[in-house]
Amino acid sequence: PDRLEGARVTVVGLARSGVAAARLAAREGARVTVTDRRPAAELGPQREALRGLPVREALGGHDLADFEGADLVVVSPGVPLSIPPIAAARRAGVPVVGEVELAFRLLGGVPVVGITGTNGKSTTTALTAALFAEDRPTFAGGNLGQPLSELLLDGPRAEVAVVELSSFQLEGIEAFRPTVAAITNVTPDHLDRYASVDEYAAAKGRLFLNQGEGDFAVANARDDRALELARASRAALHTFGFGPPEPRAARCAGGAATELVVTPASGPAETYALRNRALRGSHNRENAMAAVLCARLLGVPPAAVQRGLDAFPGLPHRLELVRERGGVEWVNDSKGTNVDSTWVGLSAFEAGRPSVVLIMGGHGKGAPYAPLRALFPGRVKALLTIGEDAPAIERELSCLAPIEPCGTLDRAVARAAALAGPGDAVLLSPACSSYDQFQSYEHRGAVFRRLVEELP
Ligand code: ADP
Repeated sequence: PDRLEGARVTVVGLARSGVAAARLAAREGARVTVTDRRPAAELGPQREALRGLPVREALGGHDLADFEGADLVVVSPGVPLSIPPIAAARRAGVPVVGEVELAFRLLGGVPVVGITGTNGKSTTTALTAALFAEDRPTFAGGNLGQPLSELLLDGPRAEVAVVELSSFQLEGIEAFRPTVAAITNVTPDHLDRYASVDEYAAAKGRLFLNQGEGDFAVANARDDRALELARASRAALHTFGFGPPEPRAARCAGGAATELVVTPASGPAETYALRNRALRGSHNRENAMAAVLCARLLGVPPAAVQRGLDAFPGLPHRLELVRERGGVEWVNDSKGTNVDSTWVGLSAFEAGRPSVVLIMGGHGKGAPYAPLRALFPGRVKALLTIGEDAPAIERELSCLAPIEPCGTLDRAVARAAALAGPGDAVLLSPACSSYDQFQSYEHRGAVFRRLVEELP
C-alpha cells in the first residue's frame, strides 16, 4: 500500500529494527501488530519501547491470521523469509518487505548512499558518513547502529542517509533506490542461510535493482563478482581500488603509499592524504577509496573530504588503537572473529622486524589457522593463546614464533606487557568467536581495553 493510514501492518521480529518499523508504521496511522517467536518475558526492553503506542502484540509464536490477513508484512533481517507464515502471506498476495523498504518509502526524497559487501561494510559506511558530515547534516545507520526508520522517528533532519545493508536486508527491498550504491567485495559467507555463493551474491546485487539514470553504481575494481553485480545497474559504474579503470567513469585508486587519487569522469585528478592511523592496512585503504568516491560523486568538497579522512576515529574493535604505553601500541581487533579477518588485521602491520605480540583464540569456527603462517615471519614476535581452540592454534602455527598458552585474556595481557618493547605492538585479533569466555566480540574487546588501561 502507498499509504499506511488504516492499513493492517504486521511486523515480524522484535529487535531494534522491528521496534523502529512498528513505531514508524504506528505513527503513519497503520493498525500495527508485532509478532515474535520469543515470549513476552524475553522481550522486556523491546516492549518497553512500544509502550503507550497503539500496537497489538502476538508474542511467543506466530498466528497465521496476522500474516494472511495483513496489508503489509515487515520482516526483520534476523527472520528467514522461508518460515511458513511468511510463505503463507506471500501466497495470499500480501507484500512482504523489510524495515529498510518501509523507511525508504517515507523518506521523501532524502538521497541515500547504500553500502553492501561481505567485508568492510561498517567501516566504509561509518567513514562515508563522516565525510558527508563535514559538509551537510548526515544520517548514518542501517545494519550498523540506527535503523533507517529512526531517521524518520527521532532523527534531526538529514540531507543524506548513508546506510549499511546486509544481504538479509536487501532481500526485503522492493522500491529501495540508493542514489549511490556501493559494493565493497563479495566472498563466500552466510552459506548457512544461502544455498550457494551465487544466491548470496544475488541478494547483494539487489542493491542496484532500482537504480536509474542520475544514480551512481560503485564497485571494487578488483572484485569480479562485485563488478558484475554493479554492471547490472542502470546507473553508470564507477570503481575504486586496485584494479583496471572503467572508461569515462570516476574512480578512486591509490597513489603513493599514503595517498588516494580521485580521477573524475572529466576534469583534473585530486589527491588526498591518507595518514590516519585508524585507517591502517590495505583493506582500510580500499574502504577509504570507496568512501571518498561516494562522497565526491555527491559533491562533498575536497577540503571536507580531507578533513573527514583525517578526523575519522575508526570503529571500535577493528584495529582500534587502545593505548600507547612505553612505545608499545595496544590494538584491539576483537572483531577479528574468523581466520580471514585476522589475516587482514595482521597484514596491516608491516613485515620487516618481528614486532607484533599476537593474542589469538576463543571458540573456533572449524576453519584452518594455517593460512596465517605466511604472515608470521618478519612480523610476529610471540603468539599468546587463549580460550577453547588454543591447542589447534598452537599446533597449526607451531615453529614460527615463540608460543605461550595463556588460557585467559588477563594472563595474555600481562604476558604481552612483559614481552613487548618499544616499537612493538600488541594485537588482540582472535580469529575465533568469543562465546567460550565472553558474551560477544564487543564484550571481549571491552575487557581487553579495560585490562590494557589498567596496566601501570
Ligand atoms: P562488516 O560490516 O562488513 O563486517 P567491518 O568494517 O566491520 O565490516 O570490518 C569487519 C572486519 O572485516 C574487519 O575487522 C577486517 O578484518 C575485515 N575487513 C574490513 N574491511 C575489509 C575489506 N575492505 N576487505 C576485506 N576485509 C575487510
